[in-house]
Amino acid sequence: MEKPRILIIYTGGTIGMVETPEGLQPFDFSHLMDNVPKLGELGYEIDSVQFKNPIDSSNMNPQYWGMIVKDIADNYDKYDGFVVLHGTDTMAYTASALAFMLRNLRKPVVVTGSQLPIGDVREDGTQNLVSAVQVAAAKDANGDPMIQEVVISFQDYIVRGCRSTKFTSTGFHAFKSFNYPDLGTIDLHIEYAEPYLMRHDDKLPLDPFYAMDPNILVMWLYPGITESVVKAQLATPGVKAVVLRTFGAGNAPTEQWFLDALGDAVKKGLIVYNVTQCANGGDEQKRYYTGDMLSKAGVISGYDITCEAAVAKLMYLLGSGLPADTVREYLGVSMVGELTD
Ligand code: ASP
Repeated sequence: MEKPRILIIYTGGTIGMVETPEGLQPFDFSHLMDNVPKLGELGYEIDSVQFKNPIDSSNMNPQYWGMIVKDIADNYDKYDGFVVLHGTDTMAYTASALAFMLRNLRKPVVVTGSQLPIGDVREDGTQNLVSAVQVAAAKDANGDPMIQEVVISFQDYIVRGCRSTKFTSTGFHAFKSFNYPDLGTIDLHIEYAEPYLMRHDDKLPLDPFYAMDPNILVMWLYPGITESVVKAQLATPGVKAVVLRTFGAGNAPTEQWFLDALGDAVKKGLIVYNVTQCANGGDEQKRYYTGDMLSKAGVISGYDITCEAAVAKLMYLLGSGLPADTVREYLGVSMVGELTD
């Protein structure tokens, strides 16, 4: 049996941070490897690359996503799996973006990080890193990669990347997939929920995508939101698409000024994507009169997509230069497992 070959891509985040007088700051990756001698005990071939200047993931952006994609694309044939070490704050956005950008992905891309730095006495980084490397190396009964998509492996759970959300800033179990079953559990054994894993009938070559278009807006509704606030946001220069964070099952005010503002924006070519504020469930735009009015204004339902995946999907579709009608069609269907259509 050949040793699994795993590439670790270190982008920054708490997992590799150290205490400094100015607070926690990203440190050189060698520190991280020094602190995890257990990785050597796995008996795998493990290599690593790192961002020249590791970042706190609050600074993550589409250029950095492109760097991760390039690291994977450049090394795709040389490794069995990839582990992306990343700060937890925007990990769900990155996992979603990678799912769209790594077109035709057929190998494991396992994103992880930690809530406490690996160098700390009590920490969650070692378990998360070692587990992620094992998940990236796992094979199914046919000898194919167990994971053939982007996942987040964190504490005791493996979840689909484009379904994930960071739901606690303090808990070690930091990521949940509210609208899709967990892909695996990590306890005494690592168990995979095989019926829910992504499988592909073809072996297309990886087709990396780099042209994410960030000209989008996330507009969060709340009772009392004013006409000037709504109109100012919709008139933001350069904005091509809006993630509309609606109430409950995808509902919004039915005041005429609001519906007119949305309707006018749609007529001018703006794409408006309905994503509920609720973590669990999704929008059923036609269930209530208040949601149906949005359909009539030309708003597209995001069903049970997360906000993180909606942001990534819009950046991907806008960046792909497709005609507006095609973009609208893709928004209503699952492209990489991001929604239940
Ligand atoms: N601020 C850190 C980051 O996202 C938090 C973490 O890694 O947990 O980079």
